[in-house]
Amino acid sequence: MNDVVIIGSGIAGLTAAIYLARSGIVPVVICGDTPGGQLMQTDNVENYPGFETISGAELMMKTMNQAEKLGAKMIYESVLSVLKNNDNFEITLSSSEQMKSRVVLIATGASHKHLGCKGETEFTNKGVSWCATCDGAMSKGKPVAVIGGGNTAVMEALFLSNIASKVYLIHRRDTLRADEIMQRRVFAKSNIECVWNSNVEEIIGDTKVTAIRLNSGKTIDVAAVFVAIGVKPATEFVKDLVALDSGGYVISDETKTFVPGIFVAGDVENCGTKQAVYAAGRGCLAAQQIERHLGIR
Ligand SMILES: Cc1cc2nc3c(=O)[nH]c(=O)nc-3n(C[C@H](O)[C@H](O)[C@H](O)COP(=O)(O)OP(=O)(O)OC[C@H]3O[C@@H](n4cnc5c(N)ncnc54)[C@H](O)[C@@H]3O)c2cc1C
Repeated sequence: MNDVVIIGSGIAGLTAAIYLARSGIVPVVICGDTPGGQLMQTDNVENYPGFETISGAELMMKTMNQAEKLGAKMIYESVLSVLKNNDNFEITLSSSEQMKSRVVLIATGASHKHLGCKGETEFTNKGVSWCATCDGAMSKGKPVAVIGGGNTAVMEALFLSNIASKVYLIHRRDTLRADEIMQRRVFAKSNIECVWNSNVEEIIGDTKVTAIRLNSGKTIDVAAVFVAIGVKPATEFVKDLVALDSGGYVISDETKTFVPGIFVAGDVENCGTKQAVYAAGRGCLAAQQIERHLGIR
């Protein structure tokens, strides 16, 4: 019987592991198929306090080493299911091995949908991004494209319009799906141009993105492409266990789910911003809630 099993080894899960290990618990971290989480995908993190600039991989390796040195146990597998059994939980791993735990922390994050067009993978971290807050500053004074038509795409476009010289908002339909008030803000911005009924066929560049080619054949010069066509939280395996909102995010109250003993932290929660420092903070809060639940705080 384990005290705490943490599902996910992104910044939220590892921060929780650090706090729990320092309180005398031996947390077990099930790392999933991306040890280190989403940050492993980025070459350059410039908004994590304490590091002017650091690669995501280096930041996450340091965090993982820190958690391990403090006593957290890492298991390099994925979780297939979690079942409630009286006051405990039974966790089945991808190897079919089963584990028991008094507490489970869901920190499985989310993944951004990809366009699937030519050049997208090649120019990831070279102008193709899924986060304007993270990478927008690198396009200061240059034209950029945002792909999508929902609230996220519109918010990214509005944010970028204060940094970039021009924002092309590329949408596959002839109207935006975003809330009316957000649409009005977009239409009021002189440097945002909506490009309707368009899909990106190719992202073009040399060492970095230089342009996009649309299905109409039109080519637009841009220095960066921000993809905002949807995010999928990794909650399929707990959908019958905890309450999810319509987007699939876990509903929580200060990291506590409605199931006593199950906690949630990070991008997989239905609250807050999707940023590393916030996910770390949620991991800290979850650890402290868990300590209270276990009666050691
Ligand atoms: C390309 C990119 C660049 C970014 N740049 C920045 C930046 O510069 N600054 C910033 O603040 N934020 C940035 N972000 C956002 C940041 O990465 C996320 O907010 C943060 O990683 C969320 O952490 P998390 O721990 O909640 O989830 P994640 O990082 O998504 O980690 C989830 C973990 O859960 C594991 N997992 C999933 N399913 C299972 C399962 N069934 N069983 C076991 N494990 C599972 C995964 O393997 C992974 O280890 C970026 C995101 C991306 C995609």
